[in-house]
Amino acid sequence: MQNIKNKINQIKELLKSWEYAYYVLDDPIVEDSEYDFKLNELKQLELEYPELITADSPTQRVGGQISENFEKYNHKFPMLSLDNAFNDNDLYDFDKTIKKETINENYTYFVEPKIDGLSISLIYQNGIFIKGVTRGNGIQGEDVTFNIKTIRSLPLSINDKEDYFEVRGEVFLSKKEFQRINDERKKNNEELFANPRNAAAGTLRQLNSKIVASRKLDVFLYYYLNREKIKTHSDSLDYIKNIGFKVNPLGKLCKNINEVIKHISYIESVRQDLDYEIDGAVVKVNEFKYYDDIGYTSKFPKWATAYKYPAEVKITNLKEIFATVGRTGKITYNAILEPVSLAGTTVQAATLHNAEYIFTKKIRVGANVKVKKAGDIIPEIIEVVNDEIYSNLKTWEKIEQCPACGSDLEIFSDEVDQYCINFNCERKIIKSLEHFVSRGAMNIEGMSIKIIEKLYENKIINNVTDIYNLKSKKNEILSLEKTGEKSFSNLINAIEESKKNDASKLLFGLGIRYVGSKTSKLLLDKFKSIQTLMSADITEIESIHDVGPKVAKSIQDWKKIDSNIILIQKLSELGINMNSLKQIVKENKNIKDKSFVITGTLSKPRNNFVELIEINGGKVLNSISKITNFLLAGDDAGSKLDKAKDLQVNIINELEFLQMLEGNNEN
Ligand code: NAD
Repeated sequence: MQNIKNKINQIKELLKSWEYAYYVLDDPIVEDSEYDFKLNELKQLELEYPELITADSPTQRVGGQISENFEKYNHKFPMLSLDNAFNDNDLYDFDKTIKKETINENYTYFVEPKIDGLSISLIYQNGIFIKGVTRGNGIQGEDVTFNIKTIRSLPLSINDKEDYFEVRGEVFLSKKEFQRINDERKKNNEELFANPRNAAAGTLRQLNSKIVASRKLDVFLYYYLNREKIKTHSDSLDYIKNIGFKVNPLGKLCKNINEVIKHISYIESVRQDLDYEIDGAVVKVNEFKYYDDIGYTSKFPKWATAYKYPAEVKITNLKEIFATVGRTGKITYNAILEPVSLAGTTVQAATLHNAEYIFTKKIRVGANVKVKKAGDIIPEIIEVVNDEIYSNLKTWEKIEQCPACGSDLEIFSDEVDQYCINFNCERKIIKSLEHFVSRGAMNIEGMSIKIIEKLYENKIINNVTDIYNLKSKKNEILSLEKTGEKSFSNLINAIEESKKNDASKLLFGLGIRYVGSKTSKLLLDKFKSIQTLMSADITEIESIHDVGPKVAKSIQDWKKIDSNIILIQKLSELGINMNSLKQIVKENKNIKDKSFVITGTLSKPRNNFVELIEINGGKVLNSISKITNFLLAGDDAGSKLDKAKDLQVNIINELEFLQMLEGNNEN
């Protein structure tokens, strides 16, 4: 029994860490199928040993968690997830349960697409939109009202003047917009979103409303449960549609489970042509009167289920395989394909990862292969169709030399990837320069890969420090084709501007292995300057939550190389900021050493205010106590406001807060 208990705990821990990456960071670390497989394993074990089910098991609770960056909001009634069906048999089983619970009464179903986005609750008061809240953990969500207001199709006032009106639905991005955002992120060397759902979630939980507004979020509404006014789900959708909400047009009322199955396959047949992603179809009992009898678990309503479609797979011909080298020296193998339409886009290239992958899968040029979109974005070759018939085709031979510089490739002991370890490999240098200037790093606008290649070829830049000496190379640069006076001066301005960046951008730009943009910020939060980080010991680095030994070891190795330390010195001499900006802003005497609690709806996301307080030397706390100096209260402030009054804490509104900030500037 202890063994089973350990196994269950192990799976739970694993699922929780995946859920954290997926729901909180919007950055999944495993494929959905892998998550579903493990969750199912846990379900089976819990079915066998029900005494081992705990309330916090991922099978019992809605998966999301709440980020501290947003004000929390308690849902009036829980926002639940949905149970899953993967085939027709699961649907017949679902129907059997419904039949039993409704005692064979005349129930019908409603089938609609399962939109690949994230759920949202919208609250209106006397016809005016007042709040948008994410599902969070189902009980408590995040107040994202500001970001929701950027959605054009959302009515800000409606013709239903009830004092409390709540409607729920799915915020999503069109396929086109998703592609556009990822293309832009790729250009800026930023991590790509794994699928439209993560992109929509990452956007809605963005702290900068300007970025949110620039990404065109949209929303379909599918849930308005008001039994006093309306009796069925289909009527509720008609009602909300009539008062101005966007309702998906593919929903259909079905008389029985066979009609349900038919409509589910109809939706699947048009899936490709839709301009938004769906990952299944949702089946709901249509009559509200049965809902209480059919009931709920703590995780989902039993009167609905989600039928999941398998990932789209297409067959096409593999025309060519080629390898490229990246900035870290890693070799990536790529495939050129006969163009094929897949999940909404035309696919003509796919990743083959490494040579090992090509061998194990017996992938050969000329063979027909099955392609799917991994995590729905980067196409991947799953397997060769019927590989025996291609045995006459030449086996692919792995390259032994770097495709760019020709030096011998190496495989490190704990990896399968091959690496070019030549420090002077030109392609590696060009790719690391491209990374250094990218938006996530030093953000030097106008310095495209084309310009970098040209400057490198003409020996104007050889390494990152040369970028900061470009001013003195004006004549050489102007003599290069198509480079005019204006673009030169724009480029120099962008380079000068980049010197003031927060040092976490520089750290990320240095391209130290495993030190991504998030890790760079965590490191600078702790060490405040690059120099302090460079003199920190490995245990100090390791001790930072979310950093860990792999990162610490990589930084340690990087520091051991003399030329790296010289590079830091040179960059510092060139005037590039080496400090965390959080530390060096002028302190404000009204705010310094004061504690603040923030509540209610303000004109900007909560984190804007947290940042303002922190950079001016104040602290932000989560709960009110006698020692809190100020409660910054926005509209609709709840219990914190009452508590602040009780404890006689100073209550200030946004205007008063801004005056406190400005007051100091005048002194
Ligand atoms: P879910 O996505 O399977 O289904 C529930 C959600 O469907 C609802 O909350 C709602 O937002 C949405 N929905 C879309 N259209 C709807 C409609 N017409 N009517 C009602 N609801 C609709 O459930 P979940 O709990 O949000 O997430 C589980 C999914 O997330 C699984 O597919 C799982 O694989 C994936 N996941 C993956 C990882 C990972 O690490 N890859 C981690 C956690 C979860």
